[in-house]
Amino acid sequence: MDARVALIGAGALGASVAEQLVRSGVGHVVIVDRDVVEESNLGRQSLYVEADAAARLPKAVALRQHLLAFNPTVDVVARVADVRADTIDDLLEEPDLVIDGTDNFATRYLLNDWCVREDVPWIYGGCVGARGLSAVIIPGETPCLRCLFRDPPPPGSVETCETTGIIAPAATMIAALEVAEALKLLVGDARSVRRGYISVDLWPFRVASVGSESKPDADCPTCGRRQFVFLEGGARDRVVTYCGRDAVQVIPAGRRTVNLASLCERLADVGDVSTNGFALTLRVPQHEITVFDDGRALIRGTRDPAHARVLYDRYVGS
Ligand SMILES: [Zn+2]
Repeated sequence: MDARVALIGAGALGASVAEQLVRSGVGHVVIVDRDVVEESNLGRQSLYVEADAAARLPKAVALRQHLLAFNPTVDVVARVADVRADTIDDLLEEPDLVIDGTDNFATRYLLNDWCVREDVPWIYGGCVGARGLSAVIIPGETPCLRCLFRDPPPPGSVETCETTGIIAPAATMIAALEVAEALKLLVGDARSVRRGYISVDLWPFRVASVGSESKPDADCPTCGRRQFVFLEGGARDRVVTYCGRDAVQVIPAGRRTVNLASLCERLADVGDVSTNGFALTLRVPQHEITVFDDGRALIRGTRDPAHARVLYDRYVGS
């Protein structure tokens, strides 16, 4: 297949998507990911091995190597980068289709803006615990992400893979749902594409298909009124680096309120966590993360803004 697919995120979901795409004959894949392989990933992220974690290889690079190992003819580009409003144009390389393998809403809303603006179909996939959700978004034909869910959830209000965990079958299942629809689009059979969104819980088992008849919302800020606030940076996280203090502050744009008590409960199994009512402090190996109730976080143990964002999304959510 000659089509170009851009895959954003190479974690549990993205790695499984990449494997299925390449085994299905998709010949050109751009993989964008900002993180490195860690030992704790190996229980749920397909293809990665101990040696990747020992070498702390970037996920995009490791994934590319594993894909080439079973199909040396495939054209795979690995981009080790953070997808942001100011980088997204360069990173995606004019794809025919974008597939979501991310673990955070900030990136998904940015992707939605970009894909609607550029008239490129994209496939939303997300999972946490034993459940997940997927939707196919064809600009102008189907509801976009903001037609379905107008605003991203506030930080700290939803479970993340790190606070709840994720079981491997959930990631593989959502990846399979994404790739099946991707293949229909790539062979030009858009009529067979599943409409609306599907939500599946494996434990206990429950499946729901929602909005299969729905159309784009004329009043949607993104696809109706064509206002791309996430691309314009108005809704993007701002990141400030503190020189010499080995700490980075992540400041989410806009006024947000974090319920520190409930975030504290969700992080109880992740590390040593406490809150004094004004701020929450989480200690995990190598990092100490302080979250304030306005959504701001101070991340100690790194000077790298991109890594700080990874840690923010992982523990606070976005
Ligand atoms: Zn819309």
